[in-house]
Amino acid sequence: MIKQTGAKLKASEAMWVVFSRGKLVIRENSLTIPVAYFDDLPFLASYTDDIHQLPPLNESAHRSTPVFVVDLGSEHIEEAGWERVSLRQLLVTEQDIAFSVIGRAWQYIHFLRTHQYCGQCGAKTDRVDWEMAVHCHRCQHRSYPRVSPCIIVSIHNREKTTASQRRQAS
Ligand SMILES: [Zn+2]
Repeated sequence: MIKQTGAKLKASEAMWVVFSRGKLVIRENSLTIPVAYFDDLPFLASYTDDIHQLPPLNESAHRSTPVFVVDLGSEHIEEAGWERVSLRQLLVTEQDIAFSVIGRAWQYIHFLRTHQYCGQCGAKTDRVDWEMAVHCHRCQHRSYPRVSPCIIVSIHNREKTTASQRRQAS
């Protein structure tokens, strides 16, 4: 992901994928990923160094609205008008962007959280600002995320979701 700083960050209306612990921060009762300007998200004021742009999945998936990803880690957000929801809740209401945005953003964040130290020599790693990678300056080892696509199928029969009703073979 590309690090975002300065004027471009403040001037761009973006889709904000903000992780707080294992959940996503969204506008209260919206059940949708917020599209907003940086100044609309006051709780990100101290995280300007941690904002990265999620690259489009491929050329045809290019969106006119950039997608910014922020990991607040274990920070607890108490901001009027905002709430935290699980990824699962949003995957149902945001099916069109579920994998292309939310799923990939989560995999990148998970990669960064689990690669804070070099897998080769154990030294602390640094994020590479211009690509999605972490780099060890002691042994020059560089790690990249493995983004694993997957699908979840839900079969609907009128009002019923039948896939979850399959009986276990005993
Ligand atoms: Zn190393």
